[in-house]
Amino acid sequence: MSNNYYEYIGPDKLKICGENVEKILNRSTTKEASKVINKIGSYNNVYWDESYGKVLVETNRTGTFEREKNRFFKETGWNLEIYKNPYSEMVNKVRRLIYEYEGRYEFLKKVSRNVRRAGDSSWIRISFLGGGKEVGRNSIFIQTPRSKVLLDCGINMKTSKGPLPAPEMDIKQLDAIVISHSHLDHTGGIAKLYAQGYRGPVYATEPTIALMRLLKRDLYRLKENPEFNKSSIDKMINHCIPIEYRDMKKIAPDIHMELYNAGHLPGSAGVLLDINGKQLFYTGDFDDRNTKLLPPADHDLPPLDVLITEATYSHESIPSQKKVERELIKTVDKTLSRDGTPIISTFAIGRSQEILSLLLENGYKNIYIDGMICEATKIVGSYPDYIKPNLDGEYQYIYSEKQREEAIENNGIIVTTSGMLTGGPIQYYLDHIGDKSKNTLILPGYMVENTPGNKLKEGENPIHINGKQLEIELEVKQIRFSGHADRSGLWSFLHKIEGSPETYVIHGEKENCEKLSQEINEKLGWSANAPKNLDAYRT
Ligand SMILES: [Zn+2]
Ligand SMILES: [Zn+2]
Repeated sequence: MSNNYYEYIGPDKLKICGENVEKILNRSTTKEASKVINKIGSYNNVYWDESYGKVLVETNRTGTFEREKNRFFKETGWNLEIYKNPYSEMVNKVRRLIYEYEGRYEFLKKVSRNVRRAGDSSWIRISFLGGGKEVGRNSIFIQTPRSKVLLDCGINMKTSKGPLPAPEMDIKQLDAIVISHSHLDHTGGIAKLYAQGYRGPVYATEPTIALMRLLKRDLYRLKENPEFNKSSIDKMINHCIPIEYRDMKKIAPDIHMELYNAGHLPGSAGVLLDINGKQLFYTGDFDDRNTKLLPPADHDLPPLDVLITEATYSHESIPSQKKVERELIKTVDKTLSRDGTPIISTFAIGRSQEILSLLLENGYKNIYIDGMICEATKIVGSYPDYIKPNLDGEYQYIYSEKQREEAIENNGIIVTTSGMLTGGPIQYYLDHIGDKSKNTLILPGYMVENTPGNKLKEGENPIHINGKQLEIELEVKQIRFSGHADRSGLWSFLHKIEGSPETYVIHGEKENCEKLSQEINEKLGWSANAPKNLDAYRT
């Protein structure tokens, strides 16, 4: 790893620069600097990212602004970053919570002091607090004599239980939490740590932070006895430090971190830790395939000493992207040709934007999105650098029953929640047009056992959603999209790795984790384990 990383900017320099920038933005300083800002044209909001020494200017002007950026840096010592005007209220709110948090200056000063502690770095201890022989609830506690870092802090999606309490995990001594992506099986337990008094940083990409707030607020709304409240969610956002892919950052006295695109969700990342010269890579959830929404995961890694990998589909083959995309288009066309309504019921984040991109690319005009997909799409569309397509295309948001009626009358293509038919607007559509065989329900995701979606797929009819009995007459079609690498994807990733890393296989059914770790051991000769929760290893 190169040593060319941003250090936290010291308080004195910060103060001088901050005032200077403010003057410039008020156009009351040198002619040269004012010209730089004028060149950008009208801007929406301006934020000071003190952790990076960056000034974020939101504007709808496009361009690289390279000359302006260079001049701005010369004039002020700050890096100028141009962001697209967000059309998501959630993104605005998250930026305000982060950059305008009144305690931010003190918080960053504390973080900066903390990462400079001296001491010994003779060992690394890795404890698995969740995600061991189970799909999700990832939570990995990394310790050295000087540093304590938590990678992800998820909940089990079936039981809602968070990471297991390990005696060595004292939140008062925790240096940092790093989040791979926004899914609750990786983030669901963090707000509880803030409710319990943790006030250290959370590092993640900005789309992950915004999507995490969306999902956490939804979890709070749905859960009967949440162990956190809305204010602990926002406390958590106050303490987030957004980080971009491939920007190395010192996060603890002997740990540097770099995020790699994981191809799983917008903003999703694999985490590379340089722990006093030893390289540890945690895959998070990853997809090695090129989808309409995201490029494949980046895995141009340095030689590794430790690897922690997911194993969701380690023993399954998933149909190719091209095949499932063709099948979806064919099903939509067939339904429209018989005057029916195609209803695509899917996950709000990632999958729905992927399908929306596919529909837009194929020239469909009459597209409607409903449920949490509306806000999720606005968030994802506000981060064009993290996705492949432009999501500014023509489609309509549904916010009321009247709009739902219109969408049905117009024979629209409806993309709605939820992925497993557990609730949300899909209940309305099945209730109103689920009894007509000309319509089609397309289920493009994985379905957990015992969910209404899975029961319907298995042929059960009628089904029950939130206690309501629904007689289903429309055509039901499952098309297997996926956000994870399958068996061949996992192996092509493993074959790319240099070195013989100690390997830990997590985030998979018990059998899959055990089998994959055994195969890695036999085929690659690496020392591999499928840890149980609360297992700890010293390296
Ligand atoms: Zn996961
Ligand atoms: Zn995930």
